[in-house]
Amino acid sequence: MDKHFINGKWVASSSGETTPAIDPSTGKEYGRIALGTVDDIDTAVRAARHAFDEGQWGRLTAAERGRLLQKFALLILDKKEELALIEARDTGKPMTVARNDVDAAARYFEYYGGAADKVYGDTIPYLTNHFVAVVREAKGVTGHILPWNYPMQMFGRTLAPSLAAGNATILKPAEAASASILRLAALASEAGMPDGAINVVTGSGSKIGTALAAHPGVDFISFTGSPEVGQLIQKTAADNYINCTLELGGKSPQLVFSDADFDLAVPTILRAIVQNSGQTCSAGSRVLVQKSIYGEFMERLGDAFAKVRVGSPEMDFDCGPIITDKQRATVQKFIDNALAEGIPLIAQGSIADGVDIDGFFVRPSLFGPVPHTNSLAQEEVFGPVLAALPFEDEADAIRIANGTDFGLVAAAWTKDGGRQMRMSKRLRAGQVFINCYGAGAGIELPFGGTGKSGHGREKGLVALDDYSNLKTIVIQHA
Ligand code: NAD
Repeated sequence: MDKHFINGKWVASSSGETTPAIDPSTGKEYGRIALGTVDDIDTAVRAARHAFDEGQWGRLTAAERGRLLQKFALLILDKKEELALIEARDTGKPMTVARNDVDAAARYFEYYGGAADKVYGDTIPYLTNHFVAVVREAKGVTGHILPWNYPMQMFGRTLAPSLAAGNATILKPAEAASASILRLAALASEAGMPDGAINVVTGSGSKIGTALAAHPGVDFISFTGSPEVGQLIQKTAADNYINCTLELGGKSPQLVFSDADFDLAVPTILRAIVQNSGQTCSAGSRVLVQKSIYGEFMERLGDAFAKVRVGSPEMDFDCGPIITDKQRATVQKFIDNALAEGIPLIAQGSIADGVDIDGFFVRPSLFGPVPHTNSLAQEEVFGPVLAALPFEDEADAIRIANGTDFGLVAAAWTKDGGRQMRMSKRLRAGQVFINCYGAGAGIELPFGGTGKSGHGREKGLVALDDYSNLKTIVIQHA
């Protein structure tokens, strides 16, 4: 774990430096990861370039690539328990969540493996003595900068379409969650992935993340993380004349109308904020409730919230710890500020007896009514904190729902068919759910944001577009 994975081999950082890997449920160091350097990034980019331009990877047919990705998917499933344990220790996730993440990672390779040989171009009618073909080609070398919240899922989500399209890749995992990414890269080799197709360089984002986006040997950057760093990556990519996708944060609203099915809405809304301890870009972190049912609905939601338990991964409750002590302090500050400002605390979950007191735990909290302009209603907490806001009618609901800088996911709960259509059209988000909510939802469904939530679409077949270029070939004939 204290080495990079470059060109199919474990390689120490060129500086020889490492940094601790911390278990969030104990607060203690349990291993080390390599602190990468700009030189390490250069070595990884050269390995990927070689794999793509001259190596075995670049010579595989699309069908061979697809078969390999699907073989990798099966190996991931074979190692499910091992991978889930690695992820749970590194990120504090409850074991059930960690196991689901393994399934999702495998599913990405299964899905895009199946798509690899079904991506093709077109012909265009042109002059009578010309034949025109438009072919789709891999970009070359793609860089992937990952966050810490769903490392294995992000690995699958950004890497699988890129590899399916034929690119060679370099990953920069988050400092706080590199363990599963390193293991997955090595597993890919075991599945037969040619050297240099997947390279992982660990370490500090500010030191090596930008170096990856700025490297002249990189043709595309996929970034998932915070809006602030995303903006920096986009500027760096622009200087490098390359394109990027930005999958950033969210403040996703759930609109509950007076005709909503409470039995369906309450558990789903609860799950959408406590899932992964609220550390989900598409967490439903605002619940907008029609005034006529506000009291009754909040009582139901509050009761459910109060039953949420937080514990270590093996306890396998609803919530685990927060990823780092710094992030725990950030989440706790949102809670403390809301209390200091006199925002009513409707309900709080509890931290289970027997957890390590040095773990990074916070109590899931439901506040309301929260003023629309309050930071709790505007800023991404990235923790299990839900802000409730009452609204009058549809127009008011849309004004509040669309009134943040973000636009990632939104949901409306109503039995009225016309209203379902109106909400689908007017909510500003990359995904809209009606009477359901999937934080990111299925792998088949295009996902991405607008505004401060980023741009570009991942998941679904559309993700393959970003990882390939069109080339127009014009042949004049007699
Ligand atoms: P972050 O922006 O701090 O870090 C993301 C990655 O960028 C990490 O690998 C980090 O090392 C790297 N990085 C940090 N500073 C850098 C710099 N100056 N230059 C280059 N790279 C740098 O985000 P995070 O705290 O890891 O993740 C939380 C954020 O990610 C939240 O805002 C969340 O909403 C967002 N997120 C979005 C999605 C999505 O799909 N939209 C998914 C997961 C997380």
